[in-house]
Amino acid sequence: MRTVSYSRELEVRGSYDILVAGSGPAGICAAVAAAREGARVALIERYGVVGGNLTTGYVGPILGMVGKGTMRDELVELLGVPENDMIGETGRAHDFEMAKIRLMQFVNHPNIDVYLQTTVTDVIKEGDTLKGIIATSGEGQFALLGKVTIDATGDGIVSYLAGATTEKGREDGLMQPVTLEFTIDGWVVIYHICHRIDQFNRKFRNLVSRCRFRTKNKGSWIERHFRMLFNLIV
Ligand SMILES: Cc1cc2nc3c(=O)[nH]c(=O)nc-3n(C[C@H](O)[C@H](O)[C@H](O)COP(=O)(O)OP(=O)(O)OC[C@H]3O[C@@H](n4cnc5c(N)ncnc54)[C@H](O)[C@@H]3O)c2cc1C
Repeated sequence: MRTVSYSRELEVRGSYDILVAGSGPAGICAAVAAAREGARVALIERYGVVGGNLTTGYVGPILGMVGKGTMRDELVELLGVPENDMIGETGRAHDFEMAKIRLMQFVNHPNIDVYLQTTVTDVIKEGDTLKGIIATSGEGQFALLGKVTIDATGDGIVSYLAGATTEKGREDGLMQPVTLEFTIDGWVVIYHICHRIDQFNRKFRNLVSRCRFRTKNKGSWIERHFRMLFNLIV
């Protein structure tokens, strides 16, 4: 493998109590919780919006719970889905576009600096101690220093860059099949790319029947497209 050595002085753009890498539900809750305790926080997100899978991933309904009285209660209230339970029996997806705004307002705290379109690409270590991160944005690279760094990237990216032991997938290296999530005209369609096509058909049938009631114009493009897809599948 060919290599090049690369070294340059980087601006230290800020020193914080806490660096939070990734602004999914884990990152925003960590950042807001720390800020409310009086810590100075940098929240670093590679995309242009906060929320992680709750916004850019089109993931809903919000499931799971770490316990009553946690920030999850606050989040589901904020996103207009307080009735969501742990397993999705009672639950609906939130509005992803509205969530982008509400979650941005949620992290809009005087103790939090939000760095959007900024990717953590390396770490700064002294011995085994993490002292900060190297961030890359459209302006190039810069450093952020922190007493504590929280890896909320969802993929353990900071941990991996810091040299921690990380695992991916099962023992044989395989991972869960991917899911494609997308919206059509405001509807959330979950197409599980899985072996259970009957499961998909049930969900799809349900969706089509609801669609007939919900579309203003009976012959609208969405209904026609659903019917066409439906006919192809069943
Ligand atoms: C296909 C799919 C379907 C799911 N369905 C559901 C569901 O129906 N209900 C449910 O409750 N859960 C569901 N989940 C699980 C849920 O999405 C996760 O549990 C949740 O998003 C984890 O939150 P997180 O904050 O840890 O990570 P994420 O939501 O993944 O957020 C990580 C954030 O870190 C950012 N990031 C990553 N790398 C970097 C970097 N180097 N620098 C800066 N930022 C970085 C990402 O852009 C992202 O914003 C689903 C997950 C998937 C993948």
